[in-house]
Amino acid sequence: MRDTSLSWQKKLAQGFASVNELLTFLELPLSIGNLHAEKQFPSRVPIGFAKRMQKGNPRDPLLLQVLATADELLASKDYRVDPLEEHDNTPIRGLLHKYHGRVLLTLTGVCAVNCRYCFRRHFPYQDNNPGRNGYQAICKYISQDNSISEVILSGGDPLLASDVLLTELINQLEEIPHLHTLRIHTRIPIVFPERIDKGLLSILKNTRFKKVIVLHCNHTQELDDSVREVLHELQQVGCYLLNQAVLLAGINADARILADLSHTLFAYGVLPYYLHQLDKVKGASHFDLPFDTVQSIYKQLQNLLPGYLLPRLVCEEPGKLSKTLLI
Ligand SMILES: *Cc1c(COP(=O)(O)O)cnc(C)c1O
Ligand code: SF4
Repeated sequence: MRDTSLSWQKKLAQGFASVNELLTFLELPLSIGNLHAEKQFPSRVPIGFAKRMQKGNPRDPLLLQVLATADELLASKDYRVDPLEEHDNTPIRGLLHKYHGRVLLTLTGVCAVNCRYCFRRHFPYQDNNPGRNGYQAICKYISQDNSISEVILSGGDPLLASDVLLTELINQLEEIPHLHTLRIHTRIPIVFPERIDKGLLSILKNTRFKKVIVLHCNHTQELDDSVREVLHELQQVGCYLLNQAVLLAGINADARILADLSHTLFAYGVLPYYLHQLDKVKGASHFDLPFDTVQSIYKQLQNLLPGYLLPRLVCEEPGKLSKTLLI
């Protein structure tokens, strides 16, 4: 059973906010962390997620996703601050309209966890949050374009927005007749399931929208009973669950690991959706893989899985009208 005695905000605040605290908790030498890297992009790891790591293992696949290391300081000219050029693609504060039929809203700049490979590590989302006052401009934009049928809440992690804010936004969106789907891109049910409380479940249960939640889980070890429980609750209030993963050197760049992830996700009621090639973001080059390795892993994966458990291998390219299928 989940401990419901504290608000989720308080539980989140108890998480690890420094690489040294995290390494001490995991009984690992502090020398494998790097404070300069942490200065560029702060450490942030919920306690429950750290508890799924293996103590004393410096190669733990969950740890490597969140550990600030000296590798992040390697300069490499192909790895840029804004690889997706999204900075220029925002007609209205907090709204990205790149793809036909759907708009993406960046509700908040923060996440429950800071993944070291994230393109967000340099993106000034803080300057791009719509805030309450921005919702009106967003809704006006959407209501004037009836080709838009789906709103995607993204971030940062949109589920860090308060229930009050989410309710207000969803209520306003519900008044737009041509909208029928609400999609939420979130890593929270995986890294901080405590957030999925009764209030949030009731918001999701009561909306008229079709609901799709796209999770972000890269390795089976991220899934435990606390995650299973909230995924079940999300399905019970009518959410379709999909997953996106990022292919990461040293973490999941192996067909058997990815096949295992797909099977476990399915057992938890989640279908694999995307497998992303890493965005070439400055500070993340050590997670990248040569393209022929990516192709070879994906072909092996294809041979291991039924079609419905095979995620689509994609990357995002600036200026394209959809994600790019790589195979
Ligand atoms: C990924 C993405 C979407 C959603 O694309 P789907 O192919 O529908 O998953 C929408 N807008 C932006 C800006 C995106 O990056
Ligand atoms: S949860 Fe998603 S958006 Fe947030 S840091 Fe991780 S990859 Fe980036």
